[in-house]
Amino acid sequence: MPVAQVPVVLSFEDARLTVEQHASRVRQPKVEPVDLLAAAGRVLAEPIRADRNLPPFPRSTRDGYAVRAADVARVTATLDVIGEIKAGESLENIPEHIASGQAASIMTGAPVPAGADAVVMIEYTAQQGTRVEIMRSVLPGENVVPSGAEAQKGSVLVERGVHLNDAAIALAATAGQSRVQVYSRPQVAVLTTGDEIVSIDATPGPTQIRNSNSYSLAVQIRNAGGEPVLLPIAPDEPRKLRALIEEGLKSNLLLMTGGVSMGRYDLVEQVLEELKAEFFFTGAKIQPGRPVVFGKCGASARARENTGTYFFGLPGNPVSTMVTFELFARPMLEALAGMAAQKLQFAYAKLKSEIRVKPGLKRFLPAVLSGEFEASQVELVPWQGSGDVAATARANCYVVIPQDGDCIPAGGFIAILLR
Ligand code: AMP
Ligand code: MG
Repeated sequence: MPVAQVPVVLSFEDARLTVEQHASRVRQPKVEPVDLLAAAGRVLAEPIRADRNLPPFPRSTRDGYAVRAADVARVTATLDVIGEIKAGESLENIPEHIASGQAASIMTGAPVPAGADAVVMIEYTAQQGTRVEIMRSVLPGENVVPSGAEAQKGSVLVERGVHLNDAAIALAATAGQSRVQVYSRPQVAVLTTGDEIVSIDATPGPTQIRNSNSYSLAVQIRNAGGEPVLLPIAPDEPRKLRALIEEGLKSNLLLMTGGVSMGRYDLVEQVLEELKAEFFFTGAKIQPGRPVVFGKCGASARARENTGTYFFGLPGNPVSTMVTFELFARPMLEALAGMAAQKLQFAYAKLKSEIRVKPGLKRFLPAVLSGEFEASQVELVPWQGSGDVAATARANCYVVIPQDGDCIPAGGFIAILLR
């Protein structure tokens, strides 16, 4: 069996950097307008600017009394109450100026009148008639957010390329954007390979395996802002495999699973080689997922002209497929979706029991983070290796073991990737 060119096995860091470099050069997708609620989970294609200061007026953060801090430097102080200001109060009902010796009753979210520079919480006051006793001093600025302190009129509230979450949607709403421009979702072809793989509607024979990878990938693709296109299962037979790979190369990105290891029937690289694909790496020093392949294929007559299509060959073991998608395919997909480049976000967690591994691979092992507050700790899920999707389904994170790590003691802090 001809071997697909010289293998290029990179460290995790170099492999990730390679993907990031290619991702930084992909073209922006098309733009479409959508209603604000439909924009959740989409990627913003235009910056959203503040159409007014945030807050638009000096906002009281408490129910209490708007005062001049200097007037209450010594307590108990007694002040004249010259008005009551509720949230949304019209301008003519708000005292024009709070002079020395005066106060105004004020509610949370109401505008602090000129002259006042702080709000005393109602809990530290006692009003009798038009006089209020102030029992506690405040610093200038206390319990008041100045106009424009959160954002200045005209400044960018949400940058282009942001994956819109609840807070970003709230900002767009604050700026009065009932419709926003988002990027079109890239189409991501998913091609599962293997003679033993059967569709989930079929009754598997005794040695056959149902196709789960296309489904985990479809979910991951959606989460990363793409539109999965599931292709038929490819057999380990070069001609049929080639036809399906050519089909997949018509999408914006092609993800293949299985057929990239060193086995006699691992034909994916061979077929891509025939299609004059360029390979950027054919392995990474990680576990799970060592045989992961990344490249670009532009030579196929049916691939999109000139630009070529990036592809990943993800190892077929279900956990390897999931992990290598997150580590390598996701940044490329996010770039194709118009998203600004993201670094992986790690957290540190306290290890519940010692981990011993052979050095040489950077490992991303399924683990459970549990316990609240100071009792939070992480522990590996016992598993049967990278085919054990049942164990991985019980995990809520991956423990990241450095390439040179061999023994990490209980109680030590270790990097984790949340999943
Ligand atoms: P391969 O990468 O083709 O050597 O496959 C590695 C392992 O993953 C084998 O045990 C396959 O049966 C399994 N596998 C490959 N593709 C899938 C799939 N789509 N769904 C579930 N398991 C798979
Ligand atoms: Mg296979």
